[in-house]
Amino acid sequence: MFSRPKSKAAFEEALRYIPGGVNSPVRALKSVGETPLFIERASGTTLTDIDGNDYTDFCLSWGVFILGHAHPDVLREVNAAVLRGTSFGIPTLQETELARLVNRFIPSIERVRFVNSGTEAVMSAIRLARGYTRRNVIVKFVGCYHGHVDHLLVAAGSGVATMGISSSAGVPESFVAHTACLPFNDRAAVEEYFRAHGDEVAAVIVEPVPANMGVVPARDGFLQFLREVTRRHGALLIFDEVITGFRLTAGGAQKLFGITPDLTTVGKIVGGGFPAAAFGGRADIMQLLAPEGPVYQAGTLSGNPIAMTAGITTLSLLSQPGVYDALNAKAARFIDRLREILAPKGIVVNSVGNMFTPFFTTGEVRNFDDVKRSDTARFARFFRHMLERGIYFSPSQFETNFISIAHTEETLDRVLAAAAEFEA
Ligand SMILES: *Cc1c(COP(=O)(O)O)cnc(C)c1O
Repeated sequence: MFSRPKSKAAFEEALRYIPGGVNSPVRALKSVGETPLFIERASGTTLTDIDGNDYTDFCLSWGVFILGHAHPDVLREVNAAVLRGTSFGIPTLQETELARLVNRFIPSIERVRFVNSGTEAVMSAIRLARGYTRRNVIVKFVGCYHGHVDHLLVAAGSGVATMGISSSAGVPESFVAHTACLPFNDRAAVEEYFRAHGDEVAAVIVEPVPANMGVVPARDGFLQFLREVTRRHGALLIFDEVITGFRLTAGGAQKLFGITPDLTTVGKIVGGGFPAAAFGGRADIMQLLAPEGPVYQAGTLSGNPIAMTAGITTLSLLSQPGVYDALNAKAARFIDRLREILAPKGIVVNSVGNMFTPFFTTGEVRNFDDVKRSDTARFARFFRHMLERGIYFSPSQFETNFISIAHTEETLDRVLAAAAEFEA
């Protein structure tokens, strides 16, 4: 079962025209020693590839589909919207409606602007933070991903502040000269950096639940500490909630932890499966955006009615009472059992709410150095083991799996049984 001759041929053909055969690198499944599945359709939590194989999806387009794929209400509303025209470059009611919903879910987003990707949201939020503070330096954390913005593609040295070393070719050193990269969960490093450079820092940007190195929860009040230290030094705090917004609670990670950032970026879920993301926050900061203020930002398809409609329908469904409680309770039961099953095999499961990553290492995983101790070859075996059993986990050790409202208890039990068989 699960032979994929058509996917293999499709990949060969894609390679002739598309670099690496994919439009986003992790999709190539290189690090897990596979070639990509080509998907024909998806529904609920089931992906169907062009060879006719079904897989239960725990990647869910990288966390987009909290309702499951192809939710009938979203499809119905989007179909109706498409027939009225797909973009006008002129305001629509849908933009204000989604903005109102975003504000109702995440009250710290007093004003919001819609863009087309998380990368664009972060890039714009940073420009705004620099414009507002009239400072240049951005502090980020090792292992946190904020899209492929030039000046945020920065790796870091071992536990010390490193300025200006990009992790991508094609980024001039001068572009990352104002980016400081510090170890996550390390207060002392942040204190020390701010003592020396506090008056140069425009903003600290953080994934409040880092998910792009696998799930690595903040510890010991680290996020509260970031709130306090930025306030003390007149810097802004940006929560990159492109994954966690509308995912962990209705109000995102900031609600979960009771912290109010100055600016927030959201993406993934907010577009309901279409290219949309947003940045927003304090009205006095957002007012600096053009056309009201001097910070320029624009977009041809920004706020287009199709993505807005998908977002409105998705958030409306998520605003029904008890949705997150039920999802997180189901996730907690599953993740607790998974942890019990994998612990004796020397695998640590990190999780927050309905997001989880099995790390193929022992001991606690608190930062990127810990993450790097993972046995990625063993992770690859695990990924393939699950795939052979019809389960599609996120295809990298440095990513997160997502539980959606559409996963059933039966499906989750099947995953537990498959995990129990791994290198038993
Ligand atoms: C996915 C992601 C981004 C980038 O969003 P794109 O839509 O892929 O550009 C930024 N930040 C975080 C935390 C993300 O998970």
